[in-house]
Amino acid sequence: MAGLVNKIIRKLFSKRKLKSEPLGQEEEILLHTMMEYSRIISQYIPYFNTLSSPEKQRFIKRTWFFRRSKIFHYIGLEEKEEIAALVSAAAVQLTFGLRRYKLSYFKHIYIMPDAYQFEKPGDLYIGHVSPKGIYLSWKHFLQGYENAADNVNVAIHEMAHALEYNNFINHADADPKFRVDFQLFPVVYGPALAHMITTKRSYLRSYAYTNIREFWAVSVETFFENPAALKTTMPKLYYVICEILKQDPLALHRNTTIV
Ligand SMILES: [Zn+2]
Repeated sequence: MAGLVNKIIRKLFSKRKLKSEPLGQEEEILLHTMMEYSRIISQYIPYFNTLSSPEKQRFIKRTWFFRRSKIFHYIGLEEKEEIAALVSAAAVQLTFGLRRYKLSYFKHIYIMPDAYQFEKPGDLYIGHVSPKGIYLSWKHFLQGYENAADNVNVAIHEMAHALEYNNFINHADADPKFRVDFQLFPVVYGPALAHMITTKRSYLRSYAYTNIREFWAVSVETFFENPAALKTTMPKLYYVICEILKQDPLALHRNTTIV
């Protein structure tokens, strides 16, 4: 399957005419799916449009494999492949520098139309991660990508939690390199927390200081939403996230050797 996917993606990004050679039925369907993925992701996810052509090919390929590895559940909204593609693309954005990207601890992704109740009545959630799966409000997913200025992106936030879970709970799929690199994170948390308590100010929103897990998820949201501002205001945090995620959103060309 990987060979066929590679062939179709190369064809999609080829400068030559798409119909230069006839395709089989399976190839035609796959080409159509990949074209739709490419169209929808470039429309909604600005990160994708900053990538080079080989990186875009890798991004689409990973999105397709990630999506195939999950079961999507639509609770109170119509099932749409574009939702599955975009949610998968958010995970691929986060893990783009890493070798293991499928977050295989999580098989199920639940999509709700809007904020939802969970556990305690009255408390509304826009996303959460539990051993049962990854949960997202579709309305807030879209808002996360529409507005970069607020440093809020619920999909990136929940995928950051999922990535941590995947490496520290799911030992079968844990990436030893990631686990070692992640040890850098508590080193930046202590000084950032001390600075926030002393000055009552932080570039990160106050929810980041709930605990170290939320500090990780909020920092990663900000890392992708406003990388330049994070680098200027909290450079140590910025470089530690670059090291853990093996990517720098401000660098023009990312590492293209990892597939
Ligand atoms: Zn969180």
